[in-house]
Amino acid sequence: MQRKITGFLQDENGDWVAQLECGHGQHVRHRPPWTQRPWVITAAGRAAHLGKALNCKKCDDAKLR
Ligand SMILES: [Zn+2]
Repeated sequence: MQRKITGFLQDENGDWVAQLECGHGQHVRHRPPWTQRPWVITAAGRAAHLGKALNCKKCDDAKLR
């Protein structure tokens, strides 16, 4: 389910978590070469992604139940 990003926070490991409009959080890791999200490292990059949609896996799971 596509949900808009409303903010970002860091977990205890320093990984970034996108806060979604549905209230769920989703990790947006930058782990090259597997996961390339260099934008998440910088404040400007994160700000540019506010309002962008992410596929919320938790909402998809909730729908299946
Ligand atoms: Zn959700």
